Amino acid sequence: MNIPLSSPDISGEDRAAVLEVLDSGDLSLGPKLPAFEQAIAQVANSRHAIAVNSGTSGLHLCVRAAGIQDGDEVITSPFSFVASANCVLFERGRPVFVDIDPVTYNLDPRQIEQAITPRTKAILPVHLFGRPCEMDPIMHIARQHGLAVIEDACEAIGAEYHGLPVGTFGQTGVFAFYPNKQLTTGEGGIIITDDDETARLCRVWRNQGRSETDDWLEHDELGYNYRLSDINCALGLSQISRLRQIMKARQRVADLYETALEGISEVIPPAPVAPHCRASWFVYVIRLSGEFDRAQRDQVIAALRRRGIGCRNYFPPIHLQPLYQRLFGYRPGDFPITERISDRTIALPFFNRLSEGEIDFVCAELQKAVHSLGAEHHMRSWGRLQTVP
Ligand SMILES: *Cc1c(COP(=O)(O)O)cnc(C)c1O
Repeated sequence: MNIPLSSPDISGEDRAAVLEVLDSGDLSLGPKLPAFEQAIAQVANSRHAIAVNSGTSGLHLCVRAAGIQDGDEVITSPFSFVASANCVLFERGRPVFVDIDPVTYNLDPRQIEQAITPRTKAILPVHLFGRPCEMDPIMHIARQHGLAVIEDACEAIGAEYHGLPVGTFGQTGVFAFYPNKQLTTGEGGIIITDDDETARLCRVWRNQGRSETDDWLEHDELGYNYRLSDINCALGLSQISRLRQIMKARQRVADLYETALEGISEVIPPAPVAPHCRASWFVYVIRLSGEFDRAQRDQVIAALRRRGIGCRNYFPPIHLQPLYQRLFGYRPGDFPITERISDRTIALPFFNRLSEGEIDFVCAELQKAVHSLGAEHHMRSWGRLQTVP
């Protein structure tokens, strides 16, 4: 068996769309760029969409658009992909972590207020694994304290909170299109916003700070090359026409996993999605129960990999990344809920075309790995008992 952790779903139409761009000669800043942006704006129900070359680039521009500067604080989650905190560092701001809700794994809104200081400028919630954050309390706190909200919706295109698309609650939101995401452009990301000036600035910054005059070599602002090529945009445009289909296929895989895991008492599946939320499944992350520690979780991952099953520890806490420990002096114990969960999570293979047989194989191997650990664990404690005088 060889079952990857993720696998992009590329259709015949996707291939044709890319080839059409290659044949056209219009490889960048051609017609596919605005077409892709309009398609995303429509799906997300936002006024503007600005395509960029990665989700990380998109987050960076949003942080800059929020006016984050030296020492400004941005409240975010330590249980996420590193880019959601790094984007604050790019503008010399300081990511301030608050711990997560142990059920949804998202930033816990009840912990935000105590983290606010006079230097706080923004909240950056991450819709982790495609599950919406609790946006009502987050927006309420942001309004009360005059804070910007930047939504990292990189894992959550198509997810909804009270019937509205995630990414549209804050001033800005970002979706990402790396090959493991629900939709892919190879590499890519997109900013959504209803604010005209933010949209204008993001367009200028992604394209070397070029002025909006027709002069290619006039630069008003310090910009970047964060452009997304028409090849990528054509792929995204073709993919987005299948978004509902893709979300359904992923829901099917999640449902099959849930059933297959029912008998394994040591494995905690993702919590049910709250009725006011609609998830867009990004990854399928299970957790081992509290009797297992991180080393044992790592043994389970190693055992699954030996059987050809792609899996990973999703995510190691950001505050314990070597960079963050060095910059800010974070230590184990600083965010106990994040650490307790992160020590025990495993992302299982998850993609649209994963078959029922493959899911059953993954779950059977998971059960074996967990049970053999359990046995070892009992033997060890038994051995210890024997040596007690
Ligand atoms: C994928 C992802 C990003 C952006 O990733 P890129 O690889 O730069 O597109 C940002 N935040 C989170 C939480 C992500 O999962």
